[in-house]
Amino acid sequence: MAKRILIVEDNEDSRFILVATLRGLGYETIEAETGTKGVEKALTEKPDLIVMDLGLPDIRGIDAARGLKNNLITAHIPIIAHTAWGASQWKEEALNVGMACYLEKPVDRKLMKATIEKCLLPEERKSGKEAEIIFEQKKPMTLRISQDEGKRND
Ligand code: CA
Repeated sequence: MAKRILIVEDNEDSRFILVATLRGLGYETIEAETGTKGVEKALTEKPDLIVMDLGLPDIRGIDAARGLKNNLITAHIPIIAHTAWGASQWKEEALNVGMACYLEKPVDRKLMKATIEKCLLPEERKSGKEAEIIFEQKKPMTLRISQDEGKRND
């Protein structure tokens, strides 16, 4: 069964690109256009992974992620921080609240694919029989597209 990814993104164009990219990679997608709706959908839909924009109109993506990581229902779901903001304090804060990794816009298909596969890997291992792997420490990953691909304000 295809893995389900929740996309939390307020910008319609960015959301459209993410949906197209992720569906092209074989994932099912669920969409939310605000942080509050993102949290609600994470709780009700229990996706396998969340791609969270950090610049949302209602609550900050980082605060939404913190809430999800502090909730037993959603704490296990890997969250990818996705943002045009390249400032290092956002990256650190995102990783500090438990987001699995950080991706800068615009979407780079190859990097998105690699990042998602890495983020999903611990969950894949948990479903296996190798009990010792269950307790393996999750380490945050930081991946970035090259600077010359340019940045865009969403
Ligand atoms: Ca945004």
